[in-house]
Amino acid sequence: MYDIMKKIGVLTSGGDAPGMNAVIRAVTRAAIAKGMEVVGVRRGYNGLINGDIVPLDARSVSDIIQRGGTMLYTARCAEFRYEEGLQKAKKTCEEQGIEGLVVVGGDGSFRGAADLSARGILSIGVPGTIDNDISMTEYTIGYDTAMNTVVEMVDKLRDTAQSHDRCSVVEVMGRNAGYIALNAGIACGATYIITKEEPFTVNDVISKIIEGQKSGKHHFIVIVAEGIGGSEQLAKEIEQATGVESRATILGHVQRGGSPTVQDRVAASQLGYYAVDLLSKGIGNRVVGLQHNEVVDYDIQEALKMKKEFPHDLYKIANEISF
Ligand code: ADP
Repeated sequence: MYDIMKKIGVLTSGGDAPGMNAVIRAVTRAAIAKGMEVVGVRRGYNGLINGDIVPLDARSVSDIIQRGGTMLYTARCAEFRYEEGLQKAKKTCEEQGIEGLVVVGGDGSFRGAADLSARGILSIGVPGTIDNDISMTEYTIGYDTAMNTVVEMVDKLRDTAQSHDRCSVVEVMGRNAGYIALNAGIACGATYIITKEEPFTVNDVISKIIEGQKSGKHHFIVIVAEGIGGSEQLAKEIEQATGVESRATILGHVQRGGSPTVQDRVAASQLGYYAVDLLSKGIGNRVVGLQHNEVVDYDIQEALKMKKEFPHDLYKIANEISF
């Protein structure tokens, strides 16, 4: 039998995502319910290096479940990639009596969590990123909210594109992954969705628009994934080739904000709770995630090596019904 941990920490790291606060709440309350103390580490791994740590109780996480951003702030921390930084972090944990840690972030943050686990501070990764680019889980916290934001914005762009007979080229986030582009693209009724996972040429996009013009279509939405970029140039090329006035919009950081959707709040609560459950059993070096709506966990190194399939069938559907 193991001794239950007395004190754990929670931190948010890398890019922020709606729902991170809901994880902090779930972790705090789950830890307290199990009789553990819990502290918040501020600004990602920087807080471990600098000792920027705040006590958390049930009331300090009141009224945050509905808020975007993260009450613990988030940051990137270059120092943490080196042994010296890791040793400083370990020392802070030892001084503060932090035996386990929940790290909410993406792949980079999970590498840090593996490094800490290897040095005796058991750490669990919780996938919090709008990009949905973590292989071991079908779903990442923040993804649904970001997609809904994109859809809301593109619906507005469509109104003005329709009024002026324009083509709206909209670049959406996702880093190198096209999940936001694909799903938001379908939901917006995009004429063309451009992602790294599917082959395309500018001529394909132009041909689709010309085909649409022939059948009486006057306005067009083209969604471009961040990993492809070049939206301004693409808009120019579309305008030259088709005569349709074309404008590029890069949605940018608005996609990271806002109140989390139901799906993000539920996933955050489930995964945050499960992470604490693992720590309470003396288990570390795992990432938790969702597969077929079930909570699963994997060894961090194993999780980092996994590959995620792009839903090519969904892309095909989007393409076939967008003329
Ligand atoms: P994300 O977690 O969203 O993928 P990053 O890749 O920027 O974001 O990583 C967030 C932080 O995780 C980095 O600033 C660094 O502190 C830590 N990190 C990233 N890669 C490593 C690594 N190989 N070893 C240790 N820590 C890392």
